[in-house]
Amino acid sequence: MDEKIGSYIEELNKELGDLEKTGFHAEFNKRLAFQMLQDVTKESILRKLGRKKKVLKVKDLSANLENFEVIGIILDLGEKTILPQDGTQEGTYKMYIGVLADETGSVMFSSWEYLPGSIGDIITIKNAYTRTWQNKIRLFIWAQSLVSEIADSSLLPRSKLSESQSKKLVDIGAADFSVGTVACVLQLSNKEVLVRGHRSRVVSGVLADETGRLPFTSWIELPGIDIGSIIQIEGAHIRMLRGMHSVNILNSTKVSSIELEEARKLAFTFESAGKDPSPIRIEEIVSKDVMFDVITAGNMISVRPGSGIISRCPECGRSIQKAICRVHGKVEGVRDMRIKAILDDGTGSISVMFPRELSEIIYGKTLEEAEKLMFSDVSKDAVYEDLRYSLTGRYIAVRGNSSKGKYGILFVAEKAWVPEDDLVVRVMELLHRLGPDEKDKQDRNSQIFSGRVGFA
Ligand SMILES: [Zn+2]
Repeated sequence: MDEKIGSYIEELNKELGDLEKTGFHAEFNKRLAFQMLQDVTKESILRKLGRKKKVLKVKDLSANLENFEVIGIILDLGEKTILPQDGTQEGTYKMYIGVLADETGSVMFSSWEYLPGSIGDIITIKNAYTRTWQNKIRLFIWAQSLVSEIADSSLLPRSKLSESQSKKLVDIGAADFSVGTVACVLQLSNKEVLVRGHRSRVVSGVLADETGRLPFTSWIELPGIDIGSIIQIEGAHIRMLRGMHSVNILNSTKVSSIELEEARKLAFTFESAGKDPSPIRIEEIVSKDVMFDVITAGNMISVRPGSGIISRCPECGRSIQKAICRVHGKVEGVRDMRIKAILDDGTGSISVMFPRELSEIIYGKTLEEAEKLMFSDVSKDAVYEDLRYSLTGRYIAVRGNSSKGKYGILFVAEKAWVPEDDLVVRVMELLHRLGPDEKDKQDRNSQIFSGRVGFA
């Protein structure tokens, strides 16, 4: 191998980590063997391997991303000494924890490596990854990451960077460390929850502006604030709750009401923000990591196994098998009913989960009726089979939240109904897809139809 290629491999090794593991080496050797020297470029091989590095903005970070690049300013940096579990000093190591920001948001990071930069420096991180840690999305820097300081600050105008940026709801990212916003309180309720063994009162609800909606939780009292209030929030944290990011109001968060005079200048009112969302196509849902409170419709092309009557742990609500919860051991299961179905509208498909109340409505049988069927039939899958028979192919509209998981998009329905008002639109779309001949006939039919209406 000549010197040029040798140094090239060295350079790639530095940048990409273990070439053997990435599959790069094999691809590289193959091309060399076939004398495709002009084609031995980093970019071309990475494209071939589907590993072309993505450069992401903080706003686009979601849980479980890998192998991407991010550029940002270090807003905060501290170190923590991690002691080994066995109590000895052997194997003690340092971890660096901080906040990184770009013009789209700020994110918490952890690094096992010493960082070549300090607070105020702009750095680029290659080969970073994200995980959910203590209900927050965190950026991780590890041995295979390549971090370098950037001298050219024109890449990132410092004036735009701050730890807590004021944003429209649609721009609040799942990984955002701290944000501010002006929004209207659409829903609000008080509840008691157990936090580390202590009962505490929390306020939870939904915020809305002209761009969208997000759930929120307040760990402090919100005197004078109710449904319909328009509030300004500064320094709220973002946390993950069942795959969905939500705005968290903490002790350090500032919340204030917007005066009527000021509220008039906003692009939304309580009435406009509170309107039902317009239905969207499934392809749009599939393209996003998380969507809160959306409406879509499609055909249930299949009812998934695991639908029907299930048993849940009374302690944690997990679905259990043979009266054993994987956290609480042997328990007396509580019966529940759910339906998991694949919904398809021709533009894409999603897995929709219907909780018990909705399952009973769309199935047309209550949990008790389904239980009767289960006990009267020799097949233990009687309810599942009945669900498949009665639901497959049915057209249904759903309203709820979607999030991307390991197995694709999961949509949790909060409402479900059979849409009738858009039947005409669907028929027209179908005829359109069938071709111009059918459409002509349809046009003639509609002329005849409108003629009749004219006579009536
Ligand atoms: Zn349990």
